[in-house]
Order: sequence, then C-alpha cells, then structure tokens
Amino acid sequence: MQDQRDQLRYQRQMGLPEIGEQGQKRLARSRVFVGGLGGLGSVITTYLCAAGVGSLRIADRDRVEISNLNRQILHWTKDVGRDKTVSAREKLAALNPDAEIETHHLEIGPENAAELVQGCQVIVDGTDNLQTRRVLNRTSLDMDLPFVHGGINGFNGMISTFVPGRSPCFECLFSEFGSPSSPPPVLGSVAGVVGSLQSLEVIKCLLGLMDGLLCGRLLFMQGQTMAFREISLEKNPDCPECRGR
Ligand SMILES: [Zn+2]
Repeated sequence: MQDQRDQLRYQRQMGLPEIGEQGQKRLARSRVFVGGLGGLGSVITTYLCAAGVGSLRIADRDRVEISNLNRQILHWTKDVGRDKTVSAREKLAALNPDAEIETHHLEIGPENAAELVQGCQVIVDGTDNLQTRRVLNRTSLDMDLPFVHGGINGFNGMISTFVPGRSPCFECLFSEFGSPSSPPPVLGSVAGVVGSLQSLEVIKCLLGLMDGLLCGRLLFMQGQTMAFREISLEKNPDCPECRGR
C-alpha cells in the first residue's frame, strides 16, 4: 500500500471489514503459485492480480492454440502461437503494473515442483491433468501449504481446498482415478465460475479467513441445472500420499 492511488484502486474491496488496509497490505505481501494458464489459470491469475496479490508465480509449458480461445480468456487471437506464459505476463502486467508476475515456461513435475512453490503461501490448480495435480498435491503436503483444486468437464465443475493437517488430501479422493484418454469438452463460462471460486478461496487463505474455506468439502456445480451440491470429504486411511503424515 503505497499511496492514494492504491487506496483508490482497491477502495471497493478495502471497504470490507475482513480486508481493510491491513488485509490489503497482507495481499500485497503475498506470493501465490498457479500451475497452468488454461481456462482455470486465466481466470485465477486475472482475479488475483486485480485484487492486489503482490506476487504471482506461474508455470505453463504450452503455446496458445486457436482451440484454447473459447475458454482461456487471458489469451487472445493475436496470441496464437506464443507461449502462454508470455501472453499471460503481458496482460497481467497491463492490468496491474504493481504485481510481480514471475513466469516459468516448463512442465511441472516432481523434479521441479518444490522449487517452483518455494516462498509461496498457496498452491493453485489451474492444470488439466491428474498427473500434475498429483505432483502439486504431494508438494502441498511436503511444504504444508493449502492446495486449491478446481476441475471442469462440459457443463460441470468442482472445487475443493485441501489444507494439510486439516482436511483429506487430493489423493484421498482421486487415488482410484485414471486420466481420460482425451481432454473433455468444456464451456468457457464453466471455467470462469470455477476459476473465480478458486481465486476467492485463495484470497480467503491469504487473509486468514480459514473457517469458511471449502476444506474437507467438495463443491460440485452442475451448470445445466444450476444445481450446486456439496459433498463432505473423508480422509482415506490408506491414502498413499497423506497416510501417516
Ligand atoms: Zn490423502
């Protein structure tokens, strides 16, 4: 929070008693890791950047393809063929020049995840595959950081926040699952809803508003009927990742 300009920029959210000047300063001092710059990552990074989260560290290995543009709103037609990290950094820097946008054009894997997440307060899932989610979940457990998961498929989406020591982990739920052979069809607006809810969970984590988190709860959205259901999550006593931790 440097000056009057910041007061104006964040005026509407600083009016919330849960944020105020102290909370806004807290956001400015925060660093968040976002894995993936697709449909979810586009929305997550945009809202975190707009909210004044001081530093975003983002990793993605892909280039923008024309088939991404129905949902990946950070990337535009002119960006087709460019690295998603470059496209994203350009837009986010223009949105909020005070945000530190650190991008890594690489594939997230077990060999680099700990280093990527080092110094961040929250890990956010903007990925589209089980393998990377498993890596991020393990890193969240290893480094004792909340992991905000989101997933989309067609009209449907889901979201949960896994907090080590306080909730089951991602693997407790999905250890039986395999990756689909091809990426599912998806509507951009569904990615918008889920990514937006994920960014809200991240902001609550950063502000210490832990009681209201989707922790130990999975929110399931059926976009066609607008039914939102919540499922209570149980720890899997045989979970290969968090058992005995
Ligand atoms: Zn587990």
